[in-house]
Amino acid sequence: MKKKYCYLFTEGNANMRELLGGKGANLAEMTNIGLPVPQGFTISTEACTQYYEDGRKINDDIMAEIMEYVAKMEEITGKKFGDRENPLLVSVRSGARASMPGMMDTILNLGLNEDVVEVMAKKSGNPRWAWDCYRRFIQMYSDVVMEVGKKYFEQLIDAMKEKKGVTQDVELSADDLKELATQFKAEYKAKIGEDFPTDPKEQLIGAVKAVFRSWDNPRANVYRRDNDIPYSWGTAVNVQMMAFGNMGDDCGTGVAFTRDPATGEKKLMGEFLTNAQGEDVVAGVRTPMPISQMAEKFPEAFKQFTSVCKILEDHYRDMQDMEFTVENQKLYMLQTRNGKRTAKAALKIACDLVDEGMISEKDAVLMIDPRNLDTLLHPQFDANALKKAEVAGRGLGASPGAACGKIVFSAEDAKAWKAKGEKVVLVRLETSPEDIEGMKAAEGILTVRGGMTSHAAVVARGMGKCCVSGCGDINMDEDNKKFELAGKTYREGDYISIDGSTGNIYDGIIPTSDATISGEFGRIMAWADKYRVLKVRTNADTPADAKKAVELGAEGIGLCRTEHMFFEADRIAAFREMICADNVEQREAALDKILPMQQSDFEALFEAMQGNPVTIRFLDPPLHEFVPTEEAEIELLANAQGKTVDDIRVIIASLHEFNPMLGHRGCRLSVTYPEIAKMQTRAVIRAAIKVQNDHPEWKVVPEIEVPLVGELREFNTVKKIVVDTADEEIRSAGINLKYEVGTMIEIPRACLTADEIAKEAEFFCFGTNDLTQMTFGFSRDDAGKFLGAYYDAKIYESDPFAKLDQIGVGRLMKMACELGKSTNKALHIGICGEHGGDPSSVEFCHKLGLEYVSCSPFRVPIARLAAAQAAIKESK
Ligand code: ADP
Ligand code: MG
Ligand code: MG
Repeated sequence: MKKKYCYLFTEGNANMRELLGGKGANLAEMTNIGLPVPQGFTISTEACTQYYEDGRKINDDIMAEIMEYVAKMEEITGKKFGDRENPLLVSVRSGARASMPGMMDTILNLGLNEDVVEVMAKKSGNPRWAWDCYRRFIQMYSDVVMEVGKKYFEQLIDAMKEKKGVTQDVELSADDLKELATQFKAEYKAKIGEDFPTDPKEQLIGAVKAVFRSWDNPRANVYRRDNDIPYSWGTAVNVQMMAFGNMGDDCGTGVAFTRDPATGEKKLMGEFLTNAQGEDVVAGVRTPMPISQMAEKFPEAFKQFTSVCKILEDHYRDMQDMEFTVENQKLYMLQTRNGKRTAKAALKIACDLVDEGMISEKDAVLMIDPRNLDTLLHPQFDANALKKAEVAGRGLGASPGAACGKIVFSAEDAKAWKAKGEKVVLVRLETSPEDIEGMKAAEGILTVRGGMTSHAAVVARGMGKCCVSGCGDINMDEDNKKFELAGKTYREGDYISIDGSTGNIYDGIIPTSDATISGEFGRIMAWADKYRVLKVRTNADTPADAKKAVELGAEGIGLCRTEHMFFEADRIAAFREMICADNVEQREAALDKILPMQQSDFEALFEAMQGNPVTIRFLDPPLHEFVPTEEAEIELLANAQGKTVDDIRVIIASLHEFNPMLGHRGCRLSVTYPEIAKMQTRAVIRAAIKVQNDHPEWKVVPEIEVPLVGELREFNTVKKIVVDTADEEIRSAGINLKYEVGTMIEIPRACLTADEIAKEAEFFCFGTNDLTQMTFGFSRDDAGKFLGAYYDAKIYESDPFAKLDQIGVGRLMKMACELGKSTNKALHIGICGEHGGDPSSVEFCHKLGLEYVSCSPFRVPIARLAAAQAAIKESK
């Protein structure tokens, strides 16, 4: 049977999101439940993938089917493309499976040409409307289809407004708009070298191709990478009859949420513009009015709209984000979707929906995007400092959180300054999708124009980034990189603080303080803990980190990197003496100085973890990382050891390696210098004995982890040192202490020989940073140089150091688990490394049947939630 590529809105439903995209599936669903939706059809995501497979061409079959559906649509609407009596105008709208607001393109009013516009002007008696549609169409089509920059057109509009002495688009007359349309077409011809297309079907095909193409535009690619959306999905295209919000003062267009997307409060929230088309609200061309005023302007349509809101919420059982248009007092629904929301709102809405009996606890857990929680865990302004701070201005609290940093005026500067290690706040007239990377780099975003649904606001909320929008009091001078607010001039590099919850803007620096888990956050996390199977530990090297992690729900330490303990000023000297020792005696003397320090560190960690498991990894990095580079320090070291500066230099030079990451590090250090492993074992065991004695109610079981093992005999060599030393300590203390010796699995050979290693190792912990590095054969410190080109060439879709490569590295992990358990039933296995806090990687670890994931303290709640979601999804 021939594949079907087109679906009327009456043929689809909400479950067909993969095929019809989110927008198309929901337009069909709204049609099915009897809501007023301008009719049309959806060209499927499979047509998009086919388009790319065919070398960016729409093949004959698909072309014929589109034309067939145009005819069907003409029949349903009673209008015809290019008709002199009753012309059909349509919008051509992108819509992927996952919503990607503002990332792809949409064209409105398609089907217009010189003849049709005259017909419309005459028949409606409203030439202003007809010419407004036409100029908008030429503008959008040129921008999207032919990729003529929109700024040329905006300049022409600005020039026209200036000539007419007006400030708003709506103040331009029919003749002004007509003249603009002529100018636009001339601009198009000048840039493209061809006349603007007049045949509506030709326009339609051009637009469909443009939407397909926009799937691959740079900002969409960045957005997908950030949001884990595969390139292979493709976008659908919706062809929909126009509803006109720009026909006069009894028309308008708006965007609304059934609950507040910033706080989650249950109340209608939204914005509305009279005599306008959809793009105007989002683009921030004019500052819209709050939705409540729509009740006064269009009481009938508003009443109908509020009832639609209830129907949709009850139907989808989630907060809805809707687009609608009122044409001559009549309401048309143009879009609905589960609304994007801040983390705070997400938690409140999920809890409220459970309390309202709309959803189950499990649904509530599934509803929260774990990556979003990050924002709640980030610092807020210090409450006392905030009370004293003076408000310099106020905008809309568009995306909560606190940001403090130096002012920059462009996305490029934000990126560049961030790369230099600066914290910046991006201040702009308004943002556009091209700014996305700059917004990511900034601590927060402040805009002069735009409302709660402006681009800046929507994107910032999605990123969990603080944003204050629409501060009209700012007198902006972008060209000279300065602005005025409350009588003061702010320049690039000046400090500013903004509060994305209140919309307040403060001059200077306001200190921040940490957030806590309470209220709705606590409720959701408790549900998550109820349903998850994976345990969540933390990577912590200091008692402070460990305490924070426990507060955030960590159930143990999965990785303590002992080398971090050596870098402190009073310890590095002893450590350097150890490195530069000439013989075992000298080395042991230096290690004796370090032992008590390590021991007290470990005691503090065991204390912080209150009897929960603590994995301590032995010294891992190559020794050259510790040696001094500065003259004065080299001298100091020489004096301490009774050596000459030259002696020390020779030692330092001898530590040089061509490939230190593959060099003398990890357990290789314990093989060559067993006294290091001995000292570390003593420190761990003595600390454990001390804490166990102090807290008989706890069960302290240290897990000693040998890094970088690739061979059983290598592991056994180190294990013997550990066991001999530990048993001697325990015997002489006369106590009964259990401890475990295991290994980091981070070398491919360890995965391949895991059955051998597991005969002796009591636990495995995947060190996926090194494992990824060694499996791919590139270093994570250098990958940045070429990964960009790999993304562009679609070789990789994401950074394998951030998101676990389940296909390659994952296969090694699976092999290691199976082999390991085949020879050691009691073997317990976890993962540490960045991936332990990445939701899709956590899901993978759940499926592998690991015992725990371990991640940095602030990612612990993310991992708890992701682990619960993995378990719930599996049980469904
Ligand atoms: P985005 O995904 O960027 O929101 P949309 O396809 O939803 O793009 O369309 C952009 C704007 O145009 C929205 O405000 C939408 O409501 C409006 N719009 C789209 N199609 C129509 C239509 N058929 N009639 C009136 N307005 C429309
Ligand atoms: Mg939309
Ligand atoms: Mg490692």
